[in-house]
Amino acid sequence: MQWSHEIILDKLRDIGILDKFYFKDDYMLVALDGTHYHSSKNISCKCCQSKTNSDTGEVHYYHSVITPTIVHPDIKKVIPLMQEFISNDDGKDKQDCEVNASKRWLDSFNNPTNKKLIILGDDLYSREPMIKKVLDKSHSYIFVAKPTSHKYLYEQIEMIKNLNTIDTKIISKMINGKKQIFTYNYLNFRT
Ligand SMILES: [Zn+2]
Repeated sequence: MQWSHEIILDKLRDIGILDKFYFKDDYMLVALDGTHYHSSKNISCKCCQSKTNSDTGEVHYYHSVITPTIVHPDIKKVIPLMQEFISNDDGKDKQDCEVNASKRWLDSFNNPTNKKLIILGDDLYSREPMIKKVLDKSHSYIFVAKPTSHKYLYEQIEMIKNLNTIDTKIISKMINGKKQIFTYNYLNFRT
């Protein structure tokens, strides 16, 4: 029997675990992130990705993978799904590599539940080709968009803020004994 997402999720559903991860009844949150599982300046193979230090010329070899994970804000445990290996021809930079592997993962994932997926990812993912792929698969997404890489978006937000149509919520939380203040700006687009 081939190990697959469907088998893992079917089993977890049968024993009542998966239901606990349903988010707002109709959704499942899937976080995508890349990680290295081999990293060396000496040991390499023909499938290695590599990065050359432009100052020293030293070559750093590595293998990396996307690790999709079902998460829930109220549960400290996560459900790891089948990973997608990042291959040599995925692209030249970190963004190409991770995003191309993530796109393959989205193509390969057959969701055995009737829950919609919300894909979570860092700033590498908040680019048009990835968002298009997520929407093509009828998923939703929450991606980090840093001001440095999304200048036009932030200009638009500033413009909209000036029109007073944005809702702001300020929440303070104790994190590791320190009070931290989070400011959330909400804007609903109707399409
Ligand atoms: Zn290698």
